[in-house]
Amino acid sequence: MTTIPATTQTKQTANSARRALTVIGDRWTLLILRDAFLGVHQFGVWQTRLGVAPAVLTRRLKSLTENGILRRQRLKTVPPRIEYHLTKQGFDIHSIALMVLQWEQRWFKAPRGSAIVLRHLGCGQITEPRLTCGSCGAETSAREVRYESGPGAGAENINEKRMRRASITAADNRATHGFLEHAVDILGDRWGWEIVGAAFLGHKRFDDLQASTGMATNILSDRLRRLSADGILTRHPYQQNPLRYEYVLTAKGRDLFPAIVMLVRWGDRWLANAAGVPMLLFHKTCGGSLNPAVSCSSCGGTLDPHEMSYEFSDGSVGKALPRAG
Ligand SMILES: [Zn+2]
Ligand SMILES: [Zn+2]
Repeated sequence: MTTIPATTQTKQTANSARRALTVIGDRWTLLILRDAFLGVHQFGVWQTRLGVAPAVLTRRLKSLTENGILRRQRLKTVPPRIEYHLTKQGFDIHSIALMVLQWEQRWFKAPRGSAIVLRHLGCGQITEPRLTCGSCGAETSAREVRYESGPGAGAENINEKRMRRASITAADNRATHGFLEHAVDILGDRWGWEIVGAAFLGHKRFDDLQASTGMATNILSDRLRRLSADGILTRHPYQQNPLRYEYVLTAKGRDLFPAIVMLVRWGDRWLANAAGVPMLLFHKTCGGSLNPAVSCSSCGGTLDPHEMSYEFSDGSVGKALPRAG
């Protein structure tokens, strides 16, 4: 694995999914958040569960705190102990996680680690979270959504410190266990997600994808290869001499739509600038704004992270988390 820290400034099309990925689209960050949703608050517990190097964990917790997703809490124990708790902004990532989890459960028959059953404490029933339209309440999918430029559309300067990883190796995967690991393995980091997001917006060819995502050529090639091998993209030649391919989403890839929509919503809600949101989403079926929500398959109510429990195949139960103080 090659890690090249670099501060870069590029001009790219404003995009809420990218803004969100800049903050949370990193494999360790995703795993730290997964465990936070299961009630992990302490450095040592994360370290043991994830097998992550202390320096890496320190950096990720610092970044999550600086970005308003976790808050540090000093406990009056002897010696004093620091805990990290999800903020309101952090809890709001739960809807993305639920959509990723649903995808994982649909496409991986025998998940490594524990299978998981979700219960909505609001109605007491087992639930399969669904993407629904906030205007009409109906379940929705990629085909029923249309996009328009929003008030914040246009180019923006992106000035950030990036950890660019040229490739993801098998050795990186040994620390993951339990749910969401397929998603973290396959999508790996923000680049995989960005390509899938660009594919939903109709970008198919290498040059298009590169212009849309601003990725380095070697990273884009590597991720296209991985996403194709994992059955998320499929490629078709569109030109023979020289041979050129188009990449399109498979059914498995298209099924990531709910996760991407909730990622966009989170970016819209927490990371939009004064100009407003870059893109407006409409539900074609009812004609209203999509206002995406994640709802319970049993009662139709909106799923709130404070009203859910997680039942694992080994009999253990993850309890609902208290609200942010
Ligand atoms: Zn609707
Ligand atoms: Zn319910």
